[in-house]
Amino acid sequence: MALSGLEIYKLLPKTNCKKCGLPTCLAFAMQLAAKKVALEKCPDVSAEVKKALESAAQPPIKLVTIGKGDEKIEIGNEAVLFRHEEKFYHPPAIGFLLEDTMPENEVKKAVDEINKLDFERVGQRIKANMVVLSCRSKSAATFEKLLVSVLGNTSLPVAFLSDKPDIIRAGLEKSKERLPLIIGANRSNYKEMAKLAKEYKAPLVASADTLESLGGLVKDLNSEGVDNIILDTGAKSIPDKIWDLTQIRRLALKKAFRPFGYPVITFIKNDDPFQEAAEAATYIAKYSSIIIMKNRKPWAALSALTVRQNIYTDPQKPLQVEPKVYEIGQVSDNSPVLVTTNFSLTYYTVESEVESSRVPSFIVTCDAEGMSVLTAWAAEKFTAESISKTLEKLGVKDRVRHKRLVIPGYVSVLSGKLEEESGWKVTVGPREASGLPVFLRNLVK
Ligand code: SF4
Repeated sequence: MALSGLEIYKLLPKTNCKKCGLPTCLAFAMQLAAKKVALEKCPDVSAEVKKALESAAQPPIKLVTIGKGDEKIEIGNEAVLFRHEEKFYHPPAIGFLLEDTMPENEVKKAVDEINKLDFERVGQRIKANMVVLSCRSKSAATFEKLLVSVLGNTSLPVAFLSDKPDIIRAGLEKSKERLPLIIGANRSNYKEMAKLAKEYKAPLVASADTLESLGGLVKDLNSEGVDNIILDTGAKSIPDKIWDLTQIRRLALKKAFRPFGYPVITFIKNDDPFQEAAEAATYIAKYSSIIIMKNRKPWAALSALTVRQNIYTDPQKPLQVEPKVYEIGQVSDNSPVLVTTNFSLTYYTVESEVESSRVPSFIVTCDAEGMSVLTAWAAEKFTAESISKTLEKLGVKDRVRHKRLVIPGYVSVLSGKLEEESGWKVTVGPREASGLPVFLRNLVK
C-alpha cells in the first residue's frame, strides 16, 4: 500500500541537510509520496529504509504482460476496490479454451471463430484476447502439433494448460517468441514450473484450492525467483469464486498482502452458453483479470465484451464522440439535419438507426460533456442556446440549403426557444432512436 508523506517522513534521517535539493526532509517526503522526486536524491537513507520505501512504491497488484506486439495483454495494476472510487485500469482478457484431443481441422476452425470475435461498439473495438490450449492427450507430440496449428492461425496471445513440466517445455519451445502464459503450477510441481517460467521469462499461473494454500504457493514461487504470477483458486461455485476473488482483491489493496498482489484467472466450467456469459459478466465485475470461456458463440462473447467495456470506462468521464457534423450516407444539401448530444452511446444508437433508415442525413453532436439527451437537458448542457451556438460554430447552414432541424422527442420543450435563438425551423423527432427510420422516411416523402 502506498505510504503517505508523513509515514515516509518518519523513515527519513530528519536532518534537513538539503542535499536532496529540498529545504526539509518533510518537503522531500511529500514530494516522494506524490512521486515527484526519486528516492535516490537523498544520499542518507539507510539500506533498510530504502527497501521499505521501495516495496511501498510497488503497485499493490502487479502488472503482468502476456504476449507481444499489438495484441499483447496487460492485466493487474489496479488500485481500487470499487470502480466509483477512481476507475479500473486494465480490462480483463477474455480467452477461449481448446483441447488437444480435438481433430486438427476442428482446432483451426475454432481458432478462426475466436479470431472473428472482434466487434465495434460505440466507436471502440472490443475483441477476444487469448487462445488457451489444454493438454488432455498427455502426449507432448500431439500437444506440439496442435499448438503449432494454433500459433499459425492466430496473432492472439496463447496460453497452455498442463501440470506436466515436459509438456509445458514443449509448448514454450514452440512459442517462446510470443511470450505465452503457462497455466499449471501447483504444490507438487512448482519447482520445475518455476524453473521453466524463469528460463523462458514467461508469466505463470499458480493454482491452489484454498486461499491459504495459494498464499503459501506464491511465497514458495517468489523464493524460487518467480514474480510474474497469476493466481487461480480452481473450479468453484459462483458464490465461492466471488468470495475468493473479493478476498484476494481486498487483501492485496487494503492489507498490502504481497502473496495476493497479482492478477487472477478464472475458468468458467458451465456448458450452457447463456449461463457461461452471465458468469463471465459476474467475474468481469468482481475482479477477475483473465476469464476463460469455452463456447465461442458471437452473441455470448459480445455480451461479455460489452460488460467489460462498460465496467472499464472511467465512471467520471462518459464515453464521448467529437462534437461535429457527421455525414451518414450520401448526403446532399437537402438532407435532414438531426441534433443530439456527444454521449457515445446516444450518438452510435442514433447513427445506426439513421443508417438503417437509408435516408442520408447529417447528425450534429453538441458538446454536452458526454451526457445523454435527458441528463444533459436537466443539467442545462443541452439547451436552445448551446444547440444554436453549436450550429453556428460548426457552420451547419453552409452544408445545407434549408434550415430545418430535427431534435430528440425528449426535449420537445426546447423547440420554441430554439427556433427563436437559431432561426432554424424545428421538427420534434421520436423519443427513442428506434423510431427514427419510420420518422425519417416520412420526413423526406
Ligand atoms: Fe532530509 Fe535526505 Fe533531503 Fe537531507 S537529503 S534534507 S536528509 S531528505
